[in-house]
Amino acid sequence: MIALEAIHKQFGDIEVLRGVSVRVPERSVTALIGPSGSGKSTLLRCVNLLELPQAGSVTVGANSLEFGAGTRHSRAEILAMRRSTGMVFQNFQLFPHLTVEENVMEGLVTVLRWPRDQARAHARALLDKVGMAAKAEAWPANLSGGQQQRTAIARALAPSPQVLLCDEPTSALDPELAGEVVEVLAQLAREGTTMLMATHDLRLASSIASDVVFLDRGEVVEAGPAQSLFGAPQRERTKQFVASLS
Ligand code: ADP
Ligand code: MG
Repeated sequence: MIALEAIHKQFGDIEVLRGVSVRVPERSVTALIGPSGSGKSTLLRCVNLLELPQAGSVTVGANSLEFGAGTRHSRAEILAMRRSTGMVFQNFQLFPHLTVEENVMEGLVTVLRWPRDQARAHARALLDKVGMAAKAEAWPANLSGGQQQRTAIARALAPSPQVLLCDEPTSALDPELAGEVVEVLAQLAREGTTMLMATHDLRLASSIASDVVFLDRGEVVEAGPAQSLFGAPQRERTKQFVASLS
């Protein structure tokens, strides 16, 4: 469902991604682990094209774009790719001036031009799914971090993206609130949502990811089934990093 091939990304002189390839099969979850600064967020941002790679190819479902010297893509192509993905951020990034329900409706109404009633009904159903229906009229500032993140997950799912990208979705939460977010993501995984998620949360990664990619200094050091990568890492750098996770 997601295929990243030989992705290169540099900011000025700094090469942040040095030929990264990752594949996420449909209806499966891949965890992206690695030290801070290894390029995890940048790689996720290359999937939804918030960052454009200098080289490589990005495929999400039927959308596929090649990057390299001389390639240019139309705004329509970039938007189509972006719309095939939903993104959940570490710090939730809800719109503070909109209620929970309005946050989930926003993209449907303003971008996809859905009628408000239809958008509201869809938002309600998604809020129900993430256990936030009772808080539909609440303001983000009055929610716990876990509630804000569950709302952000509902918002990311609203346009029915083909894949969900999560950038450290539990790392701003204390363990109890992280647990409720892990529960929601685990439920989505069981329902067959395709996900690529950067995380330092061993509980999150080991409970829902079938595959793990270990990124270090912009390169894939090791990738494989979660059980073997966590249980019997092959490379020394992987062993050290996995041992450092709690
Ligand atoms: P991670 O998410 O694994 O911590 P990031 O993808 O955020 O890593 O960052 C990888 C490297 O890229 C870091 O050295 C970071 O400083 C650099 N970087 C990320 N975004 C930018 C940017 N917009 N401009 C310049 N450097 C950036
Ligand atoms: Mg990051």
